[in-house]
Amino acid sequence: MTTQADTMEKIVALCRRRGFIFGSSEIYGGIGGFWDYGPLGTELKRNIKEAWWFDMVRNPPVGPGGVEFQMVGVDCSIIMNPKVWEASGHVGGFSDPMVDCRHCKGRFRADQLDETPCPMKPSKMVGQSDKCELTEPRAFNLMFQTYVGALQDETSIAYLRPETAQGIFVNFKNVLDTSRVKLPFGIAQMGKSFRNEINPRNYTFRSREFEQYEIEFFCHPSEADMWYEFWRDVRHRWYTDLGLESEKLRLREHVGDELAHYAKSCADVEYDFPFGLSELEGIANRTDFDLKAHIDKSGKDLSYFDDQRKERYVPYVIEPSGGIDRSVLAFITEAYSFDESRASPQFMKFHPRLAPIKAAVFPLVAKDGMPDIAEPMYREIKKRFACQYDPKQSIGKRYARMDEAGTPFCFTIDGQTKEDGTVTVRDRDDASQIRIDKSRCVEYLQDKLGL
Ligand code: ATP
Repeated sequence: MTTQADTMEKIVALCRRRGFIFGSSEIYGGIGGFWDYGPLGTELKRNIKEAWWFDMVRNPPVGPGGVEFQMVGVDCSIIMNPKVWEASGHVGGFSDPMVDCRHCKGRFRADQLDETPCPMKPSKMVGQSDKCELTEPRAFNLMFQTYVGALQDETSIAYLRPETAQGIFVNFKNVLDTSRVKLPFGIAQMGKSFRNEINPRNYTFRSREFEQYEIEFFCHPSEADMWYEFWRDVRHRWYTDLGLESEKLRLREHVGDELAHYAKSCADVEYDFPFGLSELEGIANRTDFDLKAHIDKSGKDLSYFDDQRKERYVPYVIEPSGGIDRSVLAFITEAYSFDESRASPQFMKFHPRLAPIKAAVFPLVAKDGMPDIAEPMYREIKKRFACQYDPKQSIGKRYARMDEAGTPFCFTIDGQTKEDGTVTVRDRDDASQIRIDKSRCVEYLQDKLGL
């Protein structure tokens, strides 16, 4: 019987072997909580980011009651004035309660002891072995600290941003003044964030360096509940539209104590990974908490004059905040397929928009004039779709490689091509093969991929 742990192990092995994900600085033994994307992973991640940017920013969904709103982007610096993090509460409060073990010298999150195996005795959880000597919980700030400039003292301390959201809030006025946006509107940003997580784990799921995609959607306070529901549903649907099976995807509303003190409502989009249901994205009604905190700290006016309502107010904010690396992992997990009856049992069933390579072109053998037909075909297809050309190895091995990369279609040029101009098209998902005229490959891909 295949267990969930086996599935995870197979996914990790395939990602390593096929160049989706590598450990960071592997030749030096790696570094916990940091990861690199290889050629296939880079294309996959890029496709996810492009899908998000296109669907949320360039061509955003229409709002409730047919309201069309504007979305614009920003791309802010990772290191910001440290006062930003004082205003946002990260300097004082962005901490997890931690306990240390005097015996093994490990440091663990106090709220996760029940699920963290003891490093000295992994069959038991932390605190359950006779040898564990745990300290009282202490707060540990998750922000990475650095120094700006030549002097390394208290005055030059700065932080690597732990979220992209604050760059949006501090630029709220700049965007208003320069881009003619009117409420309701959203500002989007994607980029790197850093958190000194105590237990980076579950592969790339909890990393110390990761990418986020975040939207701050500004609206009138009286409409915030409506926009919250809108964005919660839009973000949930986005994942299903890109192929995350709806039974594995859950939308969970926070209740009671779980709600952050500044949030009026919040929901998590969770995915059922082999290691359990875990958060991909949170959607929150953050009220006017963030803008007001920056008004107080900076002394600048970040209110908005609504010329339709003839009213000045501090907007409410709906924040859909997701992790790109967690999405990559969810899409990889979902795509991973195993069918013993196939010549190539492992294949990655990526949604066409996300597949790192959309098509491959193979001459059956690298002689008999076949490359002369295959190469121009490849050059034509790659103008429109990410395409690979591979003239080597047995055809079965080449199909297997493309199945593991998640390439939806392979075109093979064989002896018959020279006679009647047709090529074989092989479908990744059911390994079926048909013949089409070689001049129709681009059209065929357009049609089948819907791109
Ligand atoms: P968690 O409870 O899992 O630590 P969080 O609720 O602290 O996450 P947020 O601060 O809401 O996370 O960050 C928004 C999104 O950023 C999360 O939904 C997640 O997708 C992503 N994210 C947060 N921390 C990490 C991390 N350590 N590694 C990868 N992605 C992360």
